Amino acid sequence: MDFFLNFLHQKVPQDRKDIPVYYRTALTSGEVLLVVYFVICFFLFPLINDGRWEWSPLLFTLLSGCCLWMLKRGGVRVNLIKYTVVCIGWVCWNVRYFGWNSGVQHMMTLILVFVFFNVYDKPVSKLLWFLAILTIRVSLFYVSQMLDPLYRMNTIASTIYQTLNTIAFFLMLACACIVFSTSIQETERQLRLRNQILYKEAGTDALTGLPNRRTMIEQIEQYSRNKSRIFCVAIADLDFFKQVNDTYGHKCGDYTLTRLTTLFKEHALGRYSVCRWGGEEFCFFLPEMNLDQAGEVMNDLCAEVRKMKLLYEGNEFSITLSIGVEEYDFVSSLDAMLDAADEKLYEAKNTGRNRVVV
Ligand code: GH3
Ligand code: MG
Ligand code: MG
Repeated sequence: MDFFLNFLHQKVPQDRKDIPVYYRTALTSGEVLLVVYFVICFFLFPLINDGRWEWSPLLFTLLSGCCLWMLKRGGVRVNLIKYTVVCIGWVCWNVRYFGWNSGVQHMMTLILVFVFFNVYDKPVSKLLWFLAILTIRVSLFYVSQMLDPLYRMNTIASTIYQTLNTIAFFLMLACACIVFSTSIQETERQLRLRNQILYKEAGTDALTGLPNRRTMIEQIEQYSRNKSRIFCVAIADLDFFKQVNDTYGHKCGDYTLTRLTTLFKEHALGRYSVCRWGGEEFCFFLPEMNLDQAGEVMNDLCAEVRKMKLLYEGNEFSITLSIGVEEYDFVSSLDAMLDAADEKLYEAKNTGRNRVVV
């Protein structure tokens, strides 16, 4: 029983932005067109049927109208079953009444489009659905060959009816395909966009908005591929930062990191890029600079940081940096270069902090 209910209530997600809304749109347009088609049939039948009114188009108008009205209530599968029942019912009635030449059996192709574009359904289930439709279609053909139709249309009536059916089914098919293909394009566009955003977020530090270690390494590696270009890297660590946290609180520590970020950006003036290396450490990439030039820029930055007055909740304090700078020697790996910069940073720490070691 549970299996049966799960099978039936393969629900369309409620979130309007969610992808399967496309399915409801396709079914809605398909069923609106069906209602219109049945109404046309109702008024057309006396013309092709020796002036006799046929009530089955009216019945199918009501059935498809009900399906349309109840579309929001069920899941994908329930709605697909209702749609299939209406289509197959109509095809059976037509084949029995007018014979195979009415051309209405093409309507069953439409069901297949809806079956195969149901992204939530398993391939096995789609295959079973496909086999069922195929069996019904082939059986109907044999039945139509064995039994005479209840009513034989004349050539003009048959031509008019076939033309109407062809136009109607082409229109329904085109509508469904447009909705499905547009939704695939839109889904892909959204995916690409989301991927770009995620990629950017994955490479950015949440607190400071600076690039993170991964982004910086990518940037340096890309630059260093051209072996003829000089550059330096520097690693900076805040001095006694733990004391800031312990004295004024963690939020004040965060505030200090963001203020420093602003200062770095203002000081860089396009000469270098900076990333949050981790914790209270920053890494600088100084392209087209030798050790002396990079050392000068970092010393200047060190002085700026030293001068900076920080004010948080009425407490004024300042902070200093220790920095190690290393120049690319065209031989070492980036890892070795960063290790060397790190060693110099610890030399700066061990020799009194608040300084740059080149
Ligand atoms: P040293 O001069 O030897 O580097 O001393 P230090 O206190 O700066 O170094 P230590 O490694 O002892 O402490 C680093 C502190 O940085 C500890 C940690 O709580 C703090 N910290 C790291 N990341 C963050 C952060 O994102 N926000 C805040 N508020 N604190 C952070
Ligand atoms: Mg540290
Ligand atoms: Mg520190």
